[in-house]
Amino acid sequence: MREVYLDHAATTPVLPEVAQAVHEHLVAAYGNPSSLHRFGRRARSAVEQARERVARAMAAEAEAIVFTSGGTEADNLAIRGVARRAGSGHIVTSQIEHHAVLHTCEALETEGFAVTYLPVDARGLVKPEDVAAAIRADTILVSIMAANNEVGTIQPLAEIGALCRERGVLLHSDAVQAFGQLPLDVGALNVDLMSISAHKVYGPKGIGALYVRRGIRLAPLMYGGGHERRRRPGTENVPGIVGLGMAAEIMQGELPDRARSMAAVRDQLIRGIGETISDVVLNGDPVNRLPNNANFCFRYVEGESILLALDSKGIAASSGSACTSGALEPSHVLVAMGLPHDLAQGSVRFSVGRGTSAADIEYVLGVLGPAIDRLRKMSPLYAERAGDGPRAGGTSQEG
Ligand SMILES: *Cc1c(COP(=O)(O)O)cnc(C)c1O
Repeated sequence: MREVYLDHAATTPVLPEVAQAVHEHLVAAYGNPSSLHRFGRRARSAVEQARERVARAMAAEAEAIVFTSGGTEADNLAIRGVARRAGSGHIVTSQIEHHAVLHTCEALETEGFAVTYLPVDARGLVKPEDVAAAIRADTILVSIMAANNEVGTIQPLAEIGALCRERGVLLHSDAVQAFGQLPLDVGALNVDLMSISAHKVYGPKGIGALYVRRGIRLAPLMYGGGHERRRRPGTENVPGIVGLGMAAEIMQGELPDRARSMAAVRDQLIRGIGETISDVVLNGDPVNRLPNNANFCFRYVEGESILLALDSKGIAASSGSACTSGALEPSHVLVAMGLPHDLAQGSVRFSVGRGTSAADIEYVLGVLGPAIDRLRKMSPLYAERAGDGPRAGGTSQEG
């Protein structure tokens, strides 16, 4: 059966050349970077080369990169690290952050920190003026993601960065989805801390990094050796780090072309769905969205049923985010954007990748329309809908 993977926002395949480099550092260049002998020195130089590659991909200095076990740990290290160091205070974040940010903030609330969870508009945008209004005298950190993992909305990070700098408040950004898809320059954005993850950019799972602007001191999450300039103890995941470095360099090098070609197949999908399926809503910002993301609500059917129907034809998509699918909870992102619960239940996220072709999209469109028709025929909600018959206006593409 044909297989089409449209879940790149959940994870990506590892590029062959990245896998090759990871393999070499598992079996051949296996030294401990802290060892003084040649085996250790070889591993150390591989780690430092990877650090430079990651830094270059965000226009940072190599010393500012701290390797972590992934995006989740990077988010935790940034937020807990700032909070624990400050001891008390107030944090500003948004309602549509990844759970790695939201649950970290909620945990800090139980430890006496105050947190403001900013609302978003119908397109999933955080308003810079809301950030400005939320900042208090005791605000220690603002944490706003660069782009959303579910609906792909790109946040006005540069504006938020400028106002945080002006107010003297640190800014963290979860850039796990944006990295490799949008040009990111930590200096131009005025971000102080920024999280990335390798497995979202064709690198291995279990490795990521936190950018920490020079001069920022963080309390560590764990205690142990003096690795990563005392910011993250434990023998370095050398193969993972090498993989992240290579993936970052490749992503950075092909970025403008890849973004353009991914946006082309994504738009083919958005157009095709709009032309062939009724009662569908494109969630997120129609323009200001990641080049790989298309997220829809199909009225009168549950996202999970659509996913199963697609899966039976070899098509992988996702409803909500990978972390919450499986639970029949409406997505916190769609709820924050003001979508009614019943509509939010019918959401499906398609995320294309660098290998997605026009023929893949044709195949998906051929499967999706009939699948939605069949599910709607079985849906009591569809039978009960107002004005049974073709609806005036037909398809809505505006979130
Ligand atoms: C995937 C993801 C994370 C978590 O990264 P892991 O490396 O899987 O821990 C955090 N934030 C966003 C926006 C993500 O998409």
